[in-house]
Amino acid sequence: MSKRASKAVEQLTEEEARAELARLAAEIVEHDRLYYLEDAPKVSDADYDALRQRNNAIEARFPELIRVDSPSERVGAKPAERFEKVRHTVSMLSLGNAFSEEDLADFVARIKRFLNWPDDTDLIFVSEPKIDGLAVSLRYEKGKLVLGATRGDGAEGENVTANIKTLRDIPQSLKGVPDILEVRGEVYMSHADFAGMNERQEKEGGKIFANPRNAAAGSLRQLDPSMTAKRLLRFFAYSWGEFSEPLGASQWEILQAFRKWGFPVNPLIRQCRSVADMLAFYNDIQHQRASLGYDIDGVVYKIDDLKLQDRLGFVSRSPRWAIAHKFPAEQAESTVEEIAVYVGRTGVLTPVAHIAPVTVGGVVVRNVTLHNEDEVARKDVRVGDTVVVQRAGDVIPQIVRVVLERRPKGAKPYKMPDICPACGSHASRQINPKTGEPEVARRCTNTLSCPAQAVERLRHFAARDAFDIEGLGEKTVQEFFDDGILKEPADIFRLEERYAAGDKAIAAREGWGEQSAAKLFKSIDARRKIGLDRLIMALGIPQVGETTARLLARNFQSWDAFYASMKSDNAMADLDDIGGIGDVMATAIKNFFDEAHNREALERLLKYLEITDVAAPKTSDSPVAGKTVVFTGSLELMTRSEAKARAESLGAKVAGSVSKKTDIVVAGPGAGSKLKDAEKHGVTVISEEDWMKLIGTP
Ligand code: NAD
Repeated sequence: MSKRASKAVEQLTEEEARAELARLAAEIVEHDRLYYLEDAPKVSDADYDALRQRNNAIEARFPELIRVDSPSERVGAKPAERFEKVRHTVSMLSLGNAFSEEDLADFVARIKRFLNWPDDTDLIFVSEPKIDGLAVSLRYEKGKLVLGATRGDGAEGENVTANIKTLRDIPQSLKGVPDILEVRGEVYMSHADFAGMNERQEKEGGKIFANPRNAAAGSLRQLDPSMTAKRLLRFFAYSWGEFSEPLGASQWEILQAFRKWGFPVNPLIRQCRSVADMLAFYNDIQHQRASLGYDIDGVVYKIDDLKLQDRLGFVSRSPRWAIAHKFPAEQAESTVEEIAVYVGRTGVLTPVAHIAPVTVGGVVVRNVTLHNEDEVARKDVRVGDTVVVQRAGDVIPQIVRVVLERRPKGAKPYKMPDICPACGSHASRQINPKTGEPEVARRCTNTLSCPAQAVERLRHFAARDAFDIEGLGEKTVQEFFDDGILKEPADIFRLEERYAAGDKAIAAREGWGEQSAAKLFKSIDARRKIGLDRLIMALGIPQVGETTARLLARNFQSWDAFYASMKSDNAMADLDDIGGIGDVMATAIKNFFDEAHNREALERLLKYLEITDVAAPKTSDSPVAGKTVVFTGSLELMTRSEAKARAESLGAKVAGSVSKKTDIVVAGPGAGSKLKDAEKHGVTVISEEDWMKLIGTP
């Protein structure tokens, strides 16, 4: 449903109300058709219920505008053409809805008013779980099951007798029952059977159902009964239609009789004597919802005494003596069975709660993301906890809160692993350079060979600004990875070798032949010789892009010097000495080389490469070649980065802080502590203008 901004009902003119009632009638009829006939609703139950509530509110304000085809007068949808129609001897109705405690209290007060009973008299209600399936009527004549029908539009349903007879929960014959007996109840599918069915359907390319209700309705309303039989539908009896002899004096008694005759009757039903009792039942059932193994969407309260039921009678489409108390459609409680950690394509570890399956907003939810460890800690979600899960519209399911009263004893706070579950490498949280705080995401540091990150890394490695391997685009990388041909960068350079040794997996690929293989090998071969900056860039070290890669290459000049430093205890000091590389970046680079998996993958790769050094800038005639320079204060003749680039191009090293290694400090206005440091270490301090003269720029 498009959530169009609608005018408050109190403000509608008569004309607007008339037009809106017409629109709502058409819209609701269409949703009913999709839901009841196609078993494939387009909107959530909550959105659908909102349409109906709006329709009712407008009708309450403008009763003279109620249409003959008003949705408030109708139940369900007309039977589908493909089935023989069955006229119900006693109509099958719907139920009024309560969405809040207040609605429930109103319902009870209304009944007492109708009966003219004082407010403080006790009324007995039978409270039952509201099974989310579809209602059927089973007709027994002389103890034999002769007819099974769906509700349809309440007056006429579909004849599904052959299908009904395949349900093991439904007795085919009964002893000691009235000659004519119609037992009514709900056909439903358990969570387990639903999951199994969808799995089979997926394998066979059949229809996938969004939830057990749609699956149950779709299965029962099959033309081929053997299909129904395969899908293991279940049944709960809770009501009746025509009968030739009285079945009992109360709802409770009749349910006991059903049970005695062999019908499944829900074990959770209770008798309640007050609104408080009914609410306690509602809350209790809501807590148990996820562990029942089948879907319920609320509870139903029914006046127990049949004489009172008779006196109360019906209003249009529902009885006055019963009401459905719905659970909030977009929230449900469930229990956390496990907290698992998944590694994304960029190495980010995400904790995900596996919960007992529960249908929320019309879709079965099994996994709920917990986003990151801070979020888990904030909500304090623990294994074993009962949690409130929300799924609104297309939004991914969320945990709204933990129901603390139901926390099992001994539940332990969750601790995020510091080991990547995909490859066993160290996973850490980097410091955000802007805030100085640890990032929310914990990442696997094995950038080069973690299987979860492999595709992303290989793509990055082969991309234009890195190794630039023609013919190894994103799609091919994915396909080679899926075929097990590529796992890490070194594999790229082994392709030809393997192919020559008879590994035909590459040539066997669809649309590939000798020619394509040869072409790819040629372009790979052309890249065995690689510039140091490109190699560093290709490694995919977190925080290291093109500019930093170039900076590192220029500073270390050769792979051997760079790698030796990164493996040594001086790595941090060496990196910190490079102007433009701050602590955060230095730590990220250091972490990368500290991870043994990375070094191993790197060494496997190096065997295939010839790395060209970065020539030192031509600086022989430069007066600042080999000097370490620090810029401080505000520069007026050029920007800080320009000054730095210029100095480096002349062979100077630009550092961020003054030490005894510093040769020159270039100070602009406003220079502070660095000037003092310079004095302390006896370093030459010059102005920006002098610096320009020194390097030969007027
Ligand atoms: P209802 O589901 O609110 O209540 C009546 C039904 O409850 C009965 O027919 C019966 O099938 C069922 N029920 C389960 N357990 C019961 C028990 N213990 N006692 C009595 N009845 C029990 O009303 P409805 O008219 O069947 O349909 C409305 C429902 O269908 C709503 O939940 C609505 O949101 C949904 N719906 C959704 C769409 C959509 O497009 N999403 C369209 C139509 C209907």
